[in-house]
Amino acid sequence: MKWLKKNKIKVITISLILVILICTGLVIFLTLPHIELNGEDSLVINLDSKYKELGATAFYLGEDVSDSVKVEGKVDVHKLGTYKLTYILSKGLVKKQVFRTVTVKDIEAPVITLEGDEEVNVCPNTKFKELGFKALDNVDGDVTDKVETEEKEDMIIYTVKDKEGNVGKIERKIVYKDSENPKIELSGGDSYTTYLGNKYTDPGYNVTDNCSQDLKSKVKVTNNVNMNQTGTYSVTYEVSDEAGNTTSVKRTVKVIQRPVQAKGGTIYLTFDDGPQNGTTNKILDILKEEGVKATFFVTSSGPDSLIKREADEGHTVALHTATHDYAKVYSSVTNYFNDLKIVHDRVQRITGQDARIIRFPGGSSNTVSCSYSKNIMSTLTSEVLNRGYYYHDWNVDSNDAGGSNTASAVYNNVIRGLSSSRVNMVLMHDVKPQTRDALRDIIRYAKNNGFTFATITTSTAMVRHGVNKCK
Ligand code: ZN
Repeated sequence: MKWLKKNKIKVITISLILVILICTGLVIFLTLPHIELNGEDSLVINLDSKYKELGATAFYLGEDVSDSVKVEGKVDVHKLGTYKLTYILSKGLVKKQVFRTVTVKDIEAPVITLEGDEEVNVCPNTKFKELGFKALDNVDGDVTDKVETEEKEDMIIYTVKDKEGNVGKIERKIVYKDSENPKIELSGGDSYTTYLGNKYTDPGYNVTDNCSQDLKSKVKVTNNVNMNQTGTYSVTYEVSDEAGNTTSVKRTVKVIQRPVQAKGGTIYLTFDDGPQNGTTNKILDILKEEGVKATFFVTSSGPDSLIKREADEGHTVALHTATHDYAKVYSSVTNYFNDLKIVHDRVQRITGQDARIIRFPGGSSNTVSCSYSKNIMSTLTSEVLNRGYYYHDWNVDSNDAGGSNTASAVYNNVIRGLSSSRVNMVLMHDVKPQTRDALRDIIRYAKNNGFTFATITTSTAMVRHGVNKCK
């Protein structure tokens, strides 16, 4: 019992001492400064990248004192190397520090860029022809000459290594396939006009293809042209390349009547400067009663209804300029065409026709234009043709605008001028009463003497004066 009592005291004493020791240790531990790195203690970063300081976490006496950690050392991100950073926490006499190493390294691979697509079609049974590439490295610069290529199962693999051993890689897929159609180019365009009774001669064609050669002989031409009948036909050209890609193109062939060469004794009655109420309407009445068609070179004057009537009754509505003002229309080529456009558009608005037949005010031989623009007629006579117009002068002058003021004078001028051995282009003005009054007799005379009447069309041989040089 006595021993027991003695030992119990001993155990209690030892336990007490232990507790005191543990408590003292805890107190010492808690009162010591404590520091720990945020993030890894060894970092690798890319050259020229940004280094972001992660810092350290520190405790002292149970309080967060991270703010008082001092960092010593510097990382130069623009210079390769290993940098050591020291994180120091000083509290009283106690100083604690931890370390981090930051290695600045080239870890960026060179970048290869391909010229051409990453997937290319190559003609079957041919070799892929390199389209080009470029390789750039952040440190080594242009490393294009270090690129290695390898062909592997329809794939070109491009690899390149920089000095640090970083590998850049890109692939290009090669598809051995021809999916491009051959091209057929028709000589002379896709529209062809020829005259009835001619022999059809194909203007020819050319074939090109990305893969196949000499396809021209393989073109199948189908042709339903009937040269003995007017109409619109088509010629079809079809060809397939070796891969079976097929192209078919069509040429439209128009077979038209040969323009009638006007026979000697044909009369083209032409009326300028209208329309005008009181004369043009009467002239249209006479033409209708006599069953004769004529040509009217209109201006911007008179009512629309008369132009409409001219067209409706089968006469040719032609253009004479809008203003007929010499000073204006012959002042420049631009002014001439601007003026012509006004009357052209008027006729188009009223009749729906794209009038192509014109007469120059004063005729192409006029010298009145010399006062406004020297030698403008040489330019205009060729420029109107370039722009798709046909101009007509005359070879019989009624002189109704030149001083012949009576119907009989007009009648006599025309009759004297008519010839049965040539085309007669008769100049008259439907704004002149004396012309209106002479017209029926002129027509009767012509009919009685075997003349025939025609209207000017785009296929009428042009009756032209010569252009006079300005003095
Ligand atoms: Zn005129």
